[in-house]
Amino acid sequence: MNFPTPNAYLVPTDGSFVVADAPQAPPEGTKRKDSKKTLRALRDELQELQHLLYAHDHHAVLLVFQAMDAAGKDGTIRAVMRGVNPTGCRVWSFKQPSATELQHDFLWRTAMRLPERGNIGIFNRSYYEEVLVVRVHPEYLEGQNLPSSVDRTDIWKHRFESIRDHEQHLARNGTVILKFWLNVSKDEQRRRFLSRLDEPEKNWKFSKGDVTERGYWDAYMDAYEEALRETSRPWAPWYAIPADDKPYMRLQVARVLVDTLKGLEMSFPDVADEDRAHFEAMREKLRPEA
Ligand code: ATP
Ligand code: MG
Repeated sequence: MNFPTPNAYLVPTDGSFVVADAPQAPPEGTKRKDSKKTLRALRDELQELQHLLYAHDHHAVLLVFQAMDAAGKDGTIRAVMRGVNPTGCRVWSFKQPSATELQHDFLWRTAMRLPERGNIGIFNRSYYEEVLVVRVHPEYLEGQNLPSSVDRTDIWKHRFESIRDHEQHLARNGTVILKFWLNVSKDEQRRRFLSRLDEPEKNWKFSKGDVTERGYWDAYMDAYEEALRETSRPWAPWYAIPADDKPYMRLQVARVLVDTLKGLEMSFPDVADEDRAHFEAMREKLRPEA
């Protein structure tokens, strides 16, 4: 297994990631039309590979999406997964935890939704919120029903450790984990919020809270930087994908997924000689019915 496959946007797995160096725009000269065309071709490949993943039935694939608001998580999931057989794919969105979820440890709600072998599971937000939004708003910890003995100073370090261990455990047991940070610029977010306000069919996407969160931009960037440094590992790499140009962003996500699936050793299940021996008899039975 060749994993992670080489990629320009792979976040270093040695803790050296620097948010400020991560591009938000595509390389100069990138044409939206070309990105869309290449994405269509990759989608065809993805359909074949997902069919094989399902038939082979040994690996599970987990895709994690994290981003600031309006970076395009939903649209990317839609554009990349379009045409994939829904039988083998599920998307889960994680919002503010429910009262029941808060009665459990922070990995519980996502652990229940992990993909089974042969399937692709997509997390639209994830347990990473626990070291992102909760880190930016540490007062949220007070709603988490944690005992007073839980260390509040080293809690982030401990959460990174839990996440690394959890992901390594999953990887060792056959889950292929790919994590995408859709890296949108603050200015592009502003433009997208304005279009949500200006275009009636986008109004429903706008929420006042999003503008409040934008005020914490720098704190979020610090949280992302540390989270990606601490959790991009060879068994569960992060990709920091430039998100200011949607077609380019979607294409990059599709490319990572397709390259990764191609690198897995997969084959259609063998039919035992014993079973094959019955094929001719079955044909004989079915033919006269025509
Ligand atoms: P959309 O693109 O539709 O806005 P979204 O993923 O932003 O999608 P929202 O319902 O707008 O969905 O927001 C979900 C909110 O839930 C986010 O602000 C996110 O930070 C928050 N959230 C997710 N997980 C947690 C968590 N564990 N603790 C606190 N807040 C969380
Ligand atoms: Mg939102």
